[in-house]
Amino acid sequence: MKKLNNYIGGDFINPFSDKYIENVNPSTGKIFSLIADSDENDVNLAVEAAKAAFPEWSCKGVEFRSKWLLKLANYIEENIEKFAQAETQDNGKPISLSRSMDIPRAVQNLSFFATAILHDKDEAYHTSTHVLNYTLRQPLGVVGCISPWNLPLYLFTWKIAPALASGNCVVAKPSELTPYTAYLLSEACQAIDFPAGVLNIVHGYGQKTGAAIVAHNDTKAISFTGGTQTGKTIASVAAPMFKKLSLELGGKNATVIFADADLEEATQTAVKAAFTNQGQICLCGSRILVENKIYEKFKTKFVEKVKQLQLGDPLDETTQQGATVSQAHQEKVLSYIELAKHEGGIILTGGNKVTSENLPERCKDGFFIEPTVIEGLSAFCRTNQEEIFGAVTTLIPFENENEAIEFANCTPYGLSASVWTQNLPKAHRVASQLETGIVWINTWLLRDLRTPFGGAKQSGVGREGGYEALRFFTEEKNVCLKF
Ligand code: NAD
Repeated sequence: MKKLNNYIGGDFINPFSDKYIENVNPSTGKIFSLIADSDENDVNLAVEAAKAAFPEWSCKGVEFRSKWLLKLANYIEENIEKFAQAETQDNGKPISLSRSMDIPRAVQNLSFFATAILHDKDEAYHTSTHVLNYTLRQPLGVVGCISPWNLPLYLFTWKIAPALASGNCVVAKPSELTPYTAYLLSEACQAIDFPAGVLNIVHGYGQKTGAAIVAHNDTKAISFTGGTQTGKTIASVAAPMFKKLSLELGGKNATVIFADADLEEATQTAVKAAFTNQGQICLCGSRILVENKIYEKFKTKFVEKVKQLQLGDPLDETTQQGATVSQAHQEKVLSYIELAKHEGGIILTGGNKVTSENLPERCKDGFFIEPTVIEGLSAFCRTNQEEIFGAVTTLIPFENENEAIEFANCTPYGLSASVWTQNLPKAHRVASQLETGIVWINTWLLRDLRTPFGGAKQSGVGREGGYEALRFFTEEKNVCLKF
């Protein structure tokens, strides 16, 4: 069986422990590869390799770094199908999504930051005729990047691209649930002769490998995307060490639909926002707030569209709903459906694990859940407060603008919201009062990589994207010159 080894200093290296973790394909329930079970010894080796590569990588200038990142982007683009197949196999997401979103976005992340650095500039302040100030933005050294399983290569590259582009060397860890495309990325580095030690990829469990990256004295910054609880643990270790920290955490996002919205478009997009990637995107609209006047009409249309979602083998081009990422996560999502029933929720569609008779033979042991819509719950109950991160959404009626804002803001999270109205002043008014890092108006998941990306409240600290990310991975130094 294929062993996914660590990529350190340009070589593939067995873990010190010589142990491996079984990697399960969630759509079949079968083990299909083995992942290095790394510990702090492997992390130490990776940090040493990164430290050794840093002087040259950081000094060579932006054109040099840009060229290498573009080579990496081109390699992925030329092998897009191989990466897409691996992503679907590892994560259970529909192949159409891997092909159209995950892998193209990984290419875009690398090329975006590779070219952004060519257009960046330093600031200078002409203080007086005898004094000039200028500000250098220097790379930090070795940085740690830790990513989750839901958008594996997409989020992995979203972190390593700005880190590398701004001159740092990286020790990165993908999720132990979805390591395959990060492994393919290390194969890509070897294939194109990417400078050794600049990017090191270490596989393993979060609490062992990830924790060792965070606790290492020589990782100067940690860029983390994952759950809020993990973010708290990481912050508790990194903050007393005065490391720079970027935390992109959980969400419980509202889709807010006013009575004057374009109902057809709002409904279509609300379905996508709730169920794309089986609801496993941090930006998914898992609470749909609907103005009372159109509640019943919206509900009928919405449920009808959800029932039409094509669930099946993720490798089938027509599949829209694939498998949940793991058995443990499937159980967690199902337990929330039980909780919702216990809290008085009414299941409008879905609500169950998909049974083997309703799945193709290859997938009969896979971890599938019916897309589920629930109504009848208070905005303040646990189902509507806690992140489920699966194919479950709730419908909540509201009376007026103030109540919509109150319900949208009433969770501990503050990542994103999607607001639907044709009344532009209202759209701006509501957007300004939502306690989230991102607001979409009459759309969802429309991204411009230059814009700041991140969450408020328990959804995170700091912003990624564009120059925000490049700045995170550098330290400003102001030089004041008197002449
Ligand atoms: P997770 O927190 O369990 O794991 C994320 C990563 O952190 C994994 O690589 C894991 O191995 C590692 N990790 C776990 N414990 C660690 C520790 N103590 N120290 C260092 N690393 C550790 O999250 P997950 O289940 O992989 O991902 C789902 C979560 O990610 C959801 O809450 C989702 O909302 C969130 N997410 C947020 C964003 C965003 O941009 N805000 C994007 C995607 C996912």
